[in-house]
Amino acid sequence: MIRIEKRPLPSDVITFKEDDYRSGIVFEMLTEDCHNKCYICEDFVHTAPNVEHRVPPEGNISLKYDWYNLLLACSHCNNIKSDKYKGIIDPTKTDPELYIQLTLGEDEELREKVIVQKTDGDDDVEITVDLLNAVYNGERTAMRRYACQHLKTKFFTNYCGSALKQMSIKNILMKNAS
Ligand SMILES: [Zn+2]
Repeated sequence: MIRIEKRPLPSDVITFKEDDYRSGIVFEMLTEDCHNKCYICEDFVHTAPNVEHRVPPEGNISLKYDWYNLLLACSHCNNIKSDKYKGIIDPTKTDPELYIQLTLGEDEELREKVIVQKTDGDDDVEITVDLLNAVYNGERTAMRRYACQHLKTKFFTNYCGSALKQMSIKNILMKNAS
């Protein structure tokens, strides 16, 4: 999960009906502000974008149509989060990377795992850690296992890529220094 900068909606744009935010300018602004990525797992949502309510509205109309409560998510994360993880970090206000660290690891059966750790913060961080754990490592059904495996592979590739990049930068700096 990363920090998301959401622009204010133009004053003449409304979000009073689901059609208003699932299509049209609201949806276009949402996909642009979220860079076409799911705000939870950071995977691209080109083929199955979901408009997600960070705070589940549960009948509260103002939460349902509040522009700042709408974020872009993939089906996998949207289904897992549903209305079960209440009180997660608001990435439009807080940078989650300041409070949560993802690293490579393995479970007790030595299978690859994304280790999600709280580095600082309060309850909202803990709830977000639980959600991210379920998103990356919760493999209750075959479909979830499939999606988790995709996210883990992507995470490992990015993680190893940036580690290699750091190593080569270090090598260049060491060579230049000698
Ligand atoms: Zn996702």
